[in-house]
Amino acid sequence: MLNIVLFGPPGAGKGTQSERLIEKYGLIHLSTGDVFRANIKGETELGTLAKSYMDKGQLVPDEVTINMLRSEVLNHKDAKGFIFDGFPRTNAQAEALDSFLKSIDTKISVMLALEVEEVELRERLKKRAEVSGRVDDANPEVIQNRINVYNKETAPVKTFYQNQGKFTAVNGIGSIDDITQRLFQEINNL
Ligand code: AMP
Repeated sequence: MLNIVLFGPPGAGKGTQSERLIEKYGLIHLSTGDVFRANIKGETELGTLAKSYMDKGQLVPDEVTINMLRSEVLNHKDAKGFIFDGFPRTNAQAEALDSFLKSIDTKISVMLALEVEEVELRERLKKRAEVSGRVDDANPEVIQNRINVYNKETAPVKTFYQNQGKFTAVNGIGSIDDITQRLFQEINNL
């Protein structure tokens, strides 16, 4: 199986690039943010809980997120592999993912980390707010909170994969096509 953690701060282009990677490699795209948003739309209990954190730019608690992720993976028993987009976002999630994948006889192949500096991220999120309809894109305070949470809780997850020799940084600046080519190259080199 090819299991990729596509990593990067909010606005780095994870969703856009995931679409291209799943098409090329026949993988399942698993975006925890998308699953939460679908639950909000469907007015489920999970959606109501997730919304109370998402609207403020905070992380949904680990236990809730990990349980949801596990059941999403188990829903795709015949998958050739997964792109994990927006997960793991804490070291506890990374550890839970490792032991869960081990229990189903697979593992993470690589973490591809899109690197984009903060000024550019703010610009991109501002633009995305005009089309995404996402509450958490529209408010500068919420955006700042998401960037702060990323720096404090999520960025350390890089070290987790570095320690396993699975971390690869990818320049996330440039045209969408150029960035896709960089990602393809890294995957083809695995
Ligand atoms: P995203 O679509 O990845 O930008 O995620 C939007 C929001 O969903 C985040 O700001 C969090 O509130 C929540 N979220 C998504 N993925 C996770 C995760 N792995 N752990 C905790 N919260 C998450």
